[in-house]
Order: sequence, then C-alpha cells, then structure tokens
Amino acid sequence: MGKKRVVVIEGEDASPEAVQPTVALIDKLNLGIEWVRPPVGDAGISLHGSAFPEEAREAIDESDATLFGATSGKSAPALFYLRWGKSTYANLRPSRWIPGYKSPLAKPEGIDFVIVRENLEDLYLMAEGDLEELRPLGLTSLTARRPVADMGPGRFALKVITERGAEQVVRFSFELARRRKAKGRPGKVTTATKHNMLRQSDGLFLEVAQKVAASYPDITFESLIVDNFAHIMTSAPQKLDVAVMPNLYGDILSDGAAGLIGGLGLAPSGCYGDSYAYFESAHGTAPDIAGQNMINPTATLLSAVMMLDYLGFVEEAARIEKAIELVYAGGRVLTRDQGGTASTTEFCEAIAENL
Ligand code: ATP
Repeated sequence: MGKKRVVVIEGEDASPEAVQPTVALIDKLNLGIEWVRPPVGDAGISLHGSAFPEEAREAIDESDATLFGATSGKSAPALFYLRWGKSTYANLRPSRWIPGYKSPLAKPEGIDFVIVRENLEDLYLMAEGDLEELRPLGLTSLTARRPVADMGPGRFALKVITERGAEQVVRFSFELARRRKAKGRPGKVTTATKHNMLRQSDGLFLEVAQKVAASYPDITFESLIVDNFAHIMTSAPQKLDVAVMPNLYGDILSDGAAGLIGGLGLAPSGCYGDSYAYFESAHGTAPDIAGQNMINPTATLLSAVMMLDYLGFVEEAARIEKAIELVYAGGRVLTRDQGGTASTTEFCEAIAENL
C-alpha cells in the first residue's frame, strides 16, 4: 500500500482541541501518513485573502482523504468543496452503544445502527426564494388547493430528489448492509421518507430504493414513514441496522441517534463519494467549552477510525476502536459530558496507553 496523504482542517472553537490529539494518536501507529494542513478559514484569509484559497483546493484534490474538525462558518467553503466539489453523496453516521457510554436509555445494550444521510440534495441546495417567483409556474398546492403564489407574502425552499442522487446513496447503503452482515449484523436496510405526503419527491426516493432492493435479495428491505422511524429509533433502536434517508431527515435524526447512545461527543461521521471521502465528528464546534481542554474527542477519534478503515488500515483502525472501548469499559477516565472529570488530554493519554 502506497503512502497515504491526508488533509487536516482543524476547524474553529473547541474543534482543534479534538483534532490535534487525534492526529497525534494516529502518528503513534507509524502508518507513514503524510498530513497536509493547507491554510483554510482565518489562516487562508491572512495568507491569500481567501477562506478557501486555490492552494487548499489543490491539497484536497491531491490527497486520499480529509480529516475535518467542525466549523462555525469560517472553514465552510472548504466543507462545501469537500461535499459538493468532491461529490461525497453518502454521509454515514454510526450509532453504536458501547459499555461505559452514558446513554439516557435504561437498556442501550445492542444499539448498533447506521444512518446513511443523502448528503447533496433535498433542501440543502439552498435554493430558496420569494413566493412571487413561483407565480409564472402556476404551481398549485394539493392540500391548500390554491396557487402557492397566492398564499404570500412568503418564501419557499426547494426540495429536490433526483433519481441518480437517490440511487447512489441507496446502493451505498445496501453495500454497507452487506459488509455489516458479513460481520454478524442482520443485513437490513430501512428507508425513512414522508412518501405519503411528498409523493413526488420522497415518493421517488422510495421508488428508487425499492428498485435497488430487488438486486439485493440477501438484504432485508423495509420502508418506514419518517415519523414512525423516529418512534422506532427512540423506542426500539436495536431493531435498526442500516437506515437511509433524504438529507434533512438524516441531519436531524442522526443527532437524535447520537443522543440515544450518550451524546454528540460520541458520534462520528464519514462522507463518501465514488472517489473521495472526508471524515468529521457529527457535532459542531462546541464554542461554549473552547479553550478549556474538555471537549470529548471520541467522536473525532471514531471518525478517524472510519478514515483509517477507508484508507485500508483496517487492523490499526480496529486497534484504536478497541482502545476506546477499553477506556469506556474501565469507566475511570471519562470527560465531563460522560460524567467524568478527565480533560481531553488525560482522556487521550488513556487511549494511548490502551493502544
Ligand atoms: P452545529 O450547528 O455546528 O451542529 P451547535 O452549536 O448546534 O453546532 P455543538 O457545537 O455540537 O452544536 O454543541 C452543542 C452542545 O454540545 C454544546 O453545549 C457543546 O459544548 C456540546 N458538545 C458538542 N460536542 C461535544 C464534545 N465533543 N464534547 C463535549 N461536549 C460537546
């Protein structure tokens, strides 16, 4: 395996406090990863007058993956490039409870599911406007039974689902379910859509999923209405394996899924395309705890585990994951969000000792 090159974008507020020790920990494994830190955000502005200069775009293009912190906005242009520029259409957000995680549930044992959020379409096109702009289209609401433009003054947001967009993320989810099944999971894909109301858009997502499902006879397929999915996810999350859904539902429900296992500090995420992937924790920049060395780096560490897997360092990824499990099982060195008193540094030292 050739030398791997990874772009690191630390992000803002408390985010670098989680990213820096994560990179340091991976370095202890001597994988020969070349870390590239292009100027992005404030650094980009002071060096090149741009939050996302050409140099940063090139660095991403020439790398195998990016490890991204979280951004409060300054590094957002880089994030947009990583997502839309690199077509990373599948945002994989695992929720696996491990002993020691402070879940609010009485019985979190056995929670091990993944939300695959479509990452590029739906309401996230940011195509919004004034209702008047719709007048020439003569678009009529099926429920209000009148031209949408007549409902104004007001605004609209476009929800777009394409056949190709739905197909690629659903196929990704079935492939993932297959790989998980090979490791003992049930091999099931669940869609969560509001196809009973949004018959055209979510209806298309479901239709595409049903077609793709037909070519995976070894994987169980179920479709749920998204509100029912939310109920099952919170009342019987152990029933889920791989859940795939349009962007907005996935964004919201995956934060809920993080809450189920013990909070945002534990929730990793990876965004995959056909030729690139980037990895970031599901949480934001945690500005309220910035500079205090108390951010829980588990989400970032587990995102890095997903990245090492993607880069082909499967055994090393498993080693870090095991070390994290041991620290939580020990229950002595935990960060504040998990009911402990350990600093980020102390937590990372404990992980390193268990590597
Ligand atoms: P965004 O909109 O980018 O998701 P946000 O401000 O809504 O950001 P977060 O930055 O994720 O949300 O923070 C929400 C709360 O969770 C904050 O109180 C923050 O301190 C806490 N939090 C988030 N991540 C962690 C973490 N890794 N460790 C400890 N606390 C965290």
